[in-house]
Amino acid sequence: MAQASDTKLIILDRDGVINEDSDAFVKSVDECVPIPGSIDAICRLSKAGYTVVVATNQSGIARGLLDEYTLAHIHQYLADLVEESGGMIAGFFYCPHGPEDGCFCRKPEPGLIDRISAEFASSLEGVPFVGDSLRDLQAASATACLPVLVRSGKGESTLAGGLAAPFSDCLVYPNLAAFADAWLEGHFSTKPGMLGAGYK
Ligand SMILES: [Mg+2]
Ligand SMILES: [Zn+2]
Repeated sequence: MAQASDTKLIILDRDGVINEDSDAFVKSVDECVPIPGSIDAICRLSKAGYTVVVATNQSGIARGLLDEYTLAHIHQYLADLVEESGGMIAGFFYCPHGPEDGCFCRKPEPGLIDRISAEFASSLEGVPFVGDSLRDLQAASATACLPVLVRSGKGESTLAGGLAAPFSDCLVYPNLAAFADAWLEGHFSTKPGMLGAGYK
């Protein structure tokens, strides 16, 4: 059931933001290792009234590395960890396709974010999208979301690759915990032209 249009959304990439990224893909609950502080960060955002949603590319499904049943278990595991600490992940939206499938949901395409906007009947204006890869920033900027980069996961190599316009003044945080700290303390403005000032 859709929530009120004043839902305060925060959208997170999964691998490299919530749990450790793996070049071999996260194919089981055992391979899903939370990044220190990330579960607590989601709880704090959730307790502060934010609706925290995940948008994740899971091409391991198209590649035959795991099935959607196993993926559901992995997501239940993460949701349970958050719930045990008193928070909530409101939804997991994933793209099961591969790079050659030409779908509209695999980031950098904005399809997942658009689905989240529709599901929660919420505007994306100023909604932070936190990711560790360039394609996360691209998906965010293809919508009205505010792109945020974390240095965890692939974030350090994303930065090393150089962030060209329009991402040169993108907000960058060490990890999800640091983003949550700053967001909850209101340490930055979401007005255009004010991004990142002093908080890189
Ligand atoms: Mg990622
Ligand atoms: Zn897709």
